[in-house]
Amino acid sequence: MGKETELKSIFLPFLSTSHIIPLVDVARLFAMHGVDVTIITTPQNATVFQKSVDLDSSRGRPIRTHLVTFPAAEVGLPPGIEAFNVDTPREMVPRIYMGLSILQPRFEQLFHDLRPDFIVTDMFHPWTVEAAAKLSIPRIMFHGASYLARSAAHAVEQYAPHLAAKSNSDPFAIPGLPDRLEMTPLQLPDWLRSPNQYTELMKTIKESEKNSYGSIFNSFYDLESAYYEHYKGVMGTKSWGIGPVSLWANQDASDKAARGYAKEDEGEEGWLKWLNTKAERSVLYVSFGSMNKFPYSQLVEIASALEDSGKDFIWVVRKNDEGGEGENFLEEFEKRMKESKKGYLIWGWAPQLLILENPAIGGLVTHCGWNTVVESVNAGLPMVTWPLFAEHFFNEKLVVDVLKIGVSVGAKEWRNWNEFDGEVVKAEDIGNAIGVMMSEKGEDMRRRTKTLSGAAKRAIEDGGSSHNNLNELIRELNQIKLSKAQETAPAP
Ligand code: UDP
Repeated sequence: MGKETELKSIFLPFLSTSHIIPLVDVARLFAMHGVDVTIITTPQNATVFQKSVDLDSSRGRPIRTHLVTFPAAEVGLPPGIEAFNVDTPREMVPRIYMGLSILQPRFEQLFHDLRPDFIVTDMFHPWTVEAAAKLSIPRIMFHGASYLARSAAHAVEQYAPHLAAKSNSDPFAIPGLPDRLEMTPLQLPDWLRSPNQYTELMKTIKESEKNSYGSIFNSFYDLESAYYEHYKGVMGTKSWGIGPVSLWANQDASDKAARGYAKEDEGEEGWLKWLNTKAERSVLYVSFGSMNKFPYSQLVEIASALEDSGKDFIWVVRKNDEGGEGENFLEEFEKRMKESKKGYLIWGWAPQLLILENPAIGGLVTHCGWNTVVESVNAGLPMVTWPLFAEHFFNEKLVVDVLKIGVSVGAKEWRNWNEFDGEVVKAEDIGNAIGVMMSEKGEDMRRRTKTLSGAAKRAIEDGGSSHNNLNELIRELNQIKLSKAQETAPAP
């Protein structure tokens, strides 16, 4: 496959770092395969990935960003607030949605003006199905989740098995799936537990998926083959797993360092020096993704579990706005860990891909965000699972029950991404899970993750499942373009 395809595409991510990162990796893969790519977003959101696009562009790949100004003043927002991120004040969320709806016709106009052969858009842009239909081009939907999570959510919507549970903390089995998976009603996303506005949105998204040309997932066949087949069967749609996208799109250290909110001048990075003094597979990497902030009460439990674990660790921490006691506590903890050389705190954003591939890392404590799960598998690392919101509890089922490459801290309750109160997981439970993962008991898990890591690497090689899927998809899109050109060509 090469540049002769001349396929032109538009990628439209959602206004959220968490969704932008994997979809931009996907966009870059298309450009790597000679497809002309324009990513449309707003200036603030572009800061998450512009470095990566510039790197690809300097390699001669046909990729660029097209910026559209966010209508902050029109919706009464201060400049720069244009994304659903961890620091987005809750009360501003409805205004960002208003801004997004103002942008919709502008995006649509761009689809018209830039004349793409197809568009790839985030699941949270369901309106793009009609926009693509008007232009008679395929719309492909990007799902940020796993096939298991989408299959499980679909089954819960269809059969409502949680209604038969005796109480909110009583387990029920999700029917119709390739494995027997049990969870409690409290672990279900609220929109699945009982209908709310979000339930309606998810219905619209599902409809839009059925009306799309197909969907792309950051997954690979050997990771969840049964769920991939199951999902395609129940949805009746085409779908391509082309992961791990982080591995495929970020092959050089420069790519890995540039991903996300890369800091300037990474040269003398302290974490790397610190990690390089540690024994192989001895250090824990503790991170809860891009969207989470814990309250002080939870930070104390994590700190205590890490300190007592006897393991060295890197902890990616985000300050919350509580101030006072909480802030002092973390600073003192950091100082103590520095002195004992047992722990390294990274504030805000960590170069996760670089850290995970360091041989000193031996396992993760993760919220089960899907990208991190795939990145962890790729790095051959077992996980302590601590699901929080979104579809994390479903991902935990895949990691712990299906693949058996993780140990659960036993989180009991799903919560909304911007809600910091509720259940506090105790240090003892966190410590127990870490103990299992990092001890001899975790040997089988480590062996299984190693095998999967090999499969991840093969998936993106020539002849591998993800490689074949991407080639096949691009071939189909070329065919569609060709057929259209033949239809519209004047008769000889
Ligand atoms: N990430 C990172 N550094 C951080 C936090 C996150 O590089 O400090 C990246 C991580 O590698 C992953 C993505 O951001 O690709 C987070 O996605 P995930 O699905 O794991 O969690 P979410 O942020 O959506 O909750």
